[in-house]
Amino acid sequence: MHVGILGAGVIGITTAYSLLRRGMRVTVIDRASGVAQGASFGNGGQLSYSYVNPLASPDLLKGLPRMIVGGDPAFRIQYAPSIKLVQWGLQFLMNCRSAATARNTARLTRLAIFSRTALHRIVEEHNLDFHFRRNGKIVLLASTADLSHARNACEMKNTLGCAMRVLDRSALIDLEPSLADGPNDFVGGIYAAIDEAGDSHAFVQRLVDLCHRSPDFHLHLGTNIKQIRPGSRRITAIETDQGDFTADAYVLALGAESPLMTRNLRLNLPIYPLKGYSVTVPIGEGAPVASVTDSRNRTVFCALGDDLRIAGIAELVGYDQRVEQKRIDQLIRLAQKRFPGGGDYATVINRWQGWRPLTPSSLPLIGPAPQYDNLFINAGHGLFGWTLACGSAELIAEWMNGKETARVAFR
Ligand SMILES: Cc1cc2nc3c(=O)[nH]c(=O)nc-3n(C[C@H](O)[C@H](O)[C@H](O)COP(=O)(O)OP(=O)(O)OC[C@H]3O[C@@H](n4cnc5c(N)ncnc54)[C@H](O)[C@@H]3O)c2cc1C
Repeated sequence: MHVGILGAGVIGITTAYSLLRRGMRVTVIDRASGVAQGASFGNGGQLSYSYVNPLASPDLLKGLPRMIVGGDPAFRIQYAPSIKLVQWGLQFLMNCRSAATARNTARLTRLAIFSRTALHRIVEEHNLDFHFRRNGKIVLLASTADLSHARNACEMKNTLGCAMRVLDRSALIDLEPSLADGPNDFVGGIYAAIDEAGDSHAFVQRLVDLCHRSPDFHLHLGTNIKQIRPGSRRITAIETDQGDFTADAYVLALGAESPLMTRNLRLNLPIYPLKGYSVTVPIGEGAPVASVTDSRNRTVFCALGDDLRIAGIAELVGYDQRVEQKRIDQLIRLAQKRFPGGGDYATVINRWQGWRPLTPSSLPLIGPAPQYDNLFINAGHGLFGWTLACGSAELIAEWMNGKETARVAFR
């Protein structure tokens, strides 16, 4: 079978790898001049298997009024929301109920643990250099109420294969001494021992090199997809600015832009772009060894090789591509405060924005499109697409190979 994959981000390329492993012929199309130039380029780098919590939750609901009026510096929403954003927002609110949050958390955690195994298989079989580190992750918590809430959440997750511990401030500093240099604004936190980190852009580049060893792999970069052409039950072609492209089946992996390509297919994908930012600076001696998430400021700090990556901010502002300097300054200020010696903050290597492809439940859409026999979706991985990529790719490949058992396990 010849499969056309639309999108060369971490989701598209891991899908290509999983399909090639099953003996399929694969062609990947992307408009960028390189792979992983969208959200997979400058993300936080965290392989956050234990902490793939959905965004929609009762806690977020409580803080929503403050966020909407602009009281949370890490969040922004456009003043005149589109109909699409209002529809998406209503579904998001439904997912803020505690039962939905618990269900979504469990599903995401199971997929994340499965993804960890799939990534480890790749790492063990091939010697890929993407600054991969088994460094654990710390989530800083601001109040004792947060700590006791975290204890219950950790117990549940540990039954799914995580190894999380709730620690007080001094135990956390013993584990990660660089935290002693920053402000005394956390009472403790979670330590997720099985979590890891790596550069998703470098990973995709290395995986493509690996795919290129197969004669069954083709990559068409610089190719803008204009439309997916539908027949009655099948997709008949992909219209691009380089001419029409055909295959036996197609996988839609266009990240946050996936719904823009399904408008003419009677397929309303509930994916909305959640804009975020990152800054990359040369690493300093006071950088954390573990990845650190500052939950109050919704910011992550991650060492990637010789660099320190600082990522965060959540904006519901549509497909806005501007990299606003005030947001970059905001991230640098937070990093300077938390890890004064963590990086050379005057030498910015990269300032970046990306769109997290967010569904209302934070669950990705993985499986066949109901209306078309030869169209499959692998999109909507939200805040944790790098973490979830390898497992999602295995699921879609199993499905296309005629086995839906693996996917059903995550429903
Ligand atoms: C600030 C920030 C921090 C993040 N931190 C983390 C983290 O620490 N850990 C984690 O697990 N996840 C993180 N994420 C989320 C993660 O980056 C995404 O979920 C993931 O990269 C999505 O991958 P994708 O392949 O679906 O999308 P993308 O990487 O965006 O790929 C989509 C591709 O489709 C192509 N495309 C789109 N439209 C067209 C068209 N018309 N024609 C041709 N090509 C097209 C684009 O060029 C792009 O290459 C973060 C995201 C952001 C923004």
